[in-house]
Amino acid sequence: MDIEKIKEERKRWLEWKNIAPLRVMLHELPEVEAKICLGDIIKIEADVDENIQKKVQNIAWAMRPWRKGPFEVIGTFIDSEWKSFIKYNLLEPYFNLADKDVADVGCNNGYYMLRMLTHKPRSLTGFDPSPLFKTQFDFINHFVKSDIVYELLGVEHLPYYGKKFDTIFCLGVIYHRSDPIAMLKGIKKALKEGGELFLDSFYIEGDEPVALCPATTYSKIPNVHFVPTIKALQNWCEKAGLYDFEVLATKPTTFEEQRKTDWILGESLENFLDPQDLSKTVEGYPAPKRVYIRVKNRKEKR
Ligand code: SAH
Repeated sequence: MDIEKIKEERKRWLEWKNIAPLRVMLHELPEVEAKICLGDIIKIEADVDENIQKKVQNIAWAMRPWRKGPFEVIGTFIDSEWKSFIKYNLLEPYFNLADKDVADVGCNNGYYMLRMLTHKPRSLTGFDPSPLFKTQFDFINHFVKSDIVYELLGVEHLPYYGKKFDTIFCLGVIYHRSDPIAMLKGIKKALKEGGELFLDSFYIEGDEPVALCPATTYSKIPNVHFVPTIKALQNWCEKAGLYDFEVLATKPTTFEEQRKTDWILGESLENFLDPQDLSKTVEGYPAPKRVYIRVKNRKEKR
């Protein structure tokens, strides 16, 4: 696989007719002296006049939907659909990224990577094939000025990317893959020896190593292929050569974490569950719960 060629081709995705006007807006962003605060709300503060504030607000608004966040950019609060700090704060006690080469696969607008800057990793690389989310990242990073590398590539490109990582995050992606074991094998190839993977997945309760295979949508989300039990997820990891499976947490998705805001278009969790029985999705499946795990890329022989 020729990664350079794919990267060249995907640069053109930034010229799509819904994206190109947003790219123009990026060039209109003011150069400001900004104070950056990488807390639960990623804040960019600057002392600017009302016109500039309004301009930045209009640009952020044009970049909807904002799924991950929240951000506050020069007075504009971007109330994203997800309170992403809930997942980030849950995982943060388990990682130490100082001097590590780190990748976030399915990084969306880069919220987690921006927060990871506080850990002083050696490098941060984000992978996500969405030109809109890359544009949101470029908007935020215009002010943050980090050296995070954002690739318009997917998890399927990792084994061919060239660079290997100490720590890979792959959050909220595995259930979108039709071959989750192949995905995990690909991630293993991009991990250094002894490297680690943090992953979360929807899961179903049960001790059997089985997975739910939704007919069409799951919780109105298209392209959800498998929702495994935790045991099935462990078996997938081990088949891929990833071991020391640790469950860090399990948690149902709540209306506190995911809900409709003005910054998305369309529906959110409140429309995805059965209004008569919140333990079920509208399709009649168990309501979304997530498991957060860590696995390691151990040496081949043991
Ligand atoms: N990691 C974030 C976002 C999860 S949403 C979190 O856990 O909160 C899933 C993300 O995967 C979206 O940003 C979507 O654009 C991205 N995605 C879609 N196809 C992908 C692929 N082939 N490889 C990696 N990411 C992909």
